[in-house]
Amino acid sequence: MKKFFALAMLAVSVPAFADGLVENVNGITLDKDGKVIRFNAILVGKDGKVTELLTKKDKLPRQLDFRHDGRGATMLPGLIDAHGHVMGLGFQQLTLDLSATNSLAEAQTAIREYAAKNPERRWIIGRGWNQEKWGLGRFPTAADLDAAVSDRPVWLERVDGHAGWANSRAMQIAGVTAASKSPPGGRIELSAGKPSGIFVDAASELVGKFVPAPKPAERDLALGEAQKKLLSQGITAIADMGTSMDDWQSYRRAGDGGWLSIRIFGYAGGIDNMIAIAGPRPTPWLYDDKLRLGGVKLYLDGALGSRGAWLKKPYADAPGQIGLQFLATAEIRNLMVRASMDGFQTAVHAIGDAANAEVISAVEELAVSYNGDQRWRIEHVQIVDPVDLQKLGKHGIISSMQPVHQTSDRTMAEARLGTERLTGAYAWQSIAKAGGKLAFGSDVPVESADPFAGLATAMTREDAAGQPFGGWRPEERVSREQALAGFTTGAAYAAFAETKVGSLTPGHHADFILIDVDPLLASPSDLRKAVVKETWVGGRPVYKNAAVIAASENKKDGETR
Ligand SMILES: [Zn+2]
Repeated sequence: MKKFFALAMLAVSVPAFADGLVENVNGITLDKDGKVIRFNAILVGKDGKVTELLTKKDKLPRQLDFRHDGRGATMLPGLIDAHGHVMGLGFQQLTLDLSATNSLAEAQTAIREYAAKNPERRWIIGRGWNQEKWGLGRFPTAADLDAAVSDRPVWLERVDGHAGWANSRAMQIAGVTAASKSPPGGRIELSAGKPSGIFVDAASELVGKFVPAPKPAERDLALGEAQKKLLSQGITAIADMGTSMDDWQSYRRAGDGGWLSIRIFGYAGGIDNMIAIAGPRPTPWLYDDKLRLGGVKLYLDGALGSRGAWLKKPYADAPGQIGLQFLATAEIRNLMVRASMDGFQTAVHAIGDAANAEVISAVEELAVSYNGDQRWRIEHVQIVDPVDLQKLGKHGIISSMQPVHQTSDRTMAEARLGTERLTGAYAWQSIAKAGGKLAFGSDVPVESADPFAGLATAMTREDAAGQPFGGWRPEERVSREQALAGFTTGAAYAAFAETKVGSLTPGHHADFILIDVDPLLASPSDLRKAVVKETWVGGRPVYKNAAVIAASENKKDGETR
């Protein structure tokens, strides 16, 4: 009863169009030059935008429709995830999630239990497995999966989304046999000359296309779950990398229905989706700047974990293999030109050093003809040959990177590449020094979207356990301010949204969070434990931490007695 009352109060205390004040906060924001501004209260206008930042000395305006007490919490601009997969996160919340499993046996138990609990599902689908984390020393097989579930088809995506794991029933339905050939840009893993059950990159479609597509209502449910999760983690905007027509229609239904709370910067999954969704030019900003399709996401290579990242020289742990090049030299240029001609931004997935060199050289060529404000983006930028690093600054290329990938991948990257090629690996500070622009994200659901883990990793290059002490290749750490910029102003700039979000300076949307630590002062381990108390978008509260509400209610009771 009490909780219900608190929420009802919250709803009426902030009217739809109001001049309001959120006071008693330790406010922190960055201006457009990356300078820290500190403040104690924020004035929000009727349009949901910031009108003024106040310090304790400033006088309050007389006319206010609402006042909200921040109770001394730290206020930051709503954090922006520069690279995520909104629907992927939503479906992760709704399907089998193996990301917490630490061994094949644990995964098999989880799969068995999930199948038993969901007898109505014709296919068992899910994601999140990682044979590296399991210490398996090999890919899992269809037989490993049959041991858990054999009566129904099972199809599970690898944690990085770059490989799928099928059981025998799924391969049977898909008609995959020893005679099946790997498609271009993909690989059917073999064991004793037969498909082993692992399908890398483009080969995933061989089985994936037989998985029944979710219905619109299921998609909307997933979007709702994703939005709830992100807002609770302090994320108020996200670049959606690889938006499909079905995804877009879900976002539009949410916008039309008035329940889209988070801001989504859409990057269409390929040119076909770009044209189908947006037509001849980017869409306008819709629903008060909540949604836009402004760019296209292209894939140039795969990922390191499945040895799909395209390298200049063979993998240290797989002689002769150099990974997968998805687009030929002429193809990638043609696609980038196609996007630029119609005013779309290009974001190219490039992980290996050969892939990064290829995008950079394409930009060098294209920048001659398309010399406006292009903001070419490279997604991941994980392994860059040091000879190519300097060029990232030259054309203002945006390096959209995911700090937590560095700690998750460290040991695997050493095995795949050997020590020599690690100089340009996850080279945040070198890229910044070369004049490259950084935007930080999580690649959720590949990693958790938790931006505080991202911030702490960016400034330490240590994992959650503090390993390795002092940081892995610590010269590539960034400062606290740079880390914060990566998740705010930098991520906004990367999406052409820097005049709208990412900073709490006047004129920006009042998208902010209240948390219990100061990211410019807290120890990295405290920062990792940050509690998001409230999340606001457009001057309206969209999330309140239930435990924090309950605690403050109890405290109030104590005070009145
Ligand atoms: Zn991604």
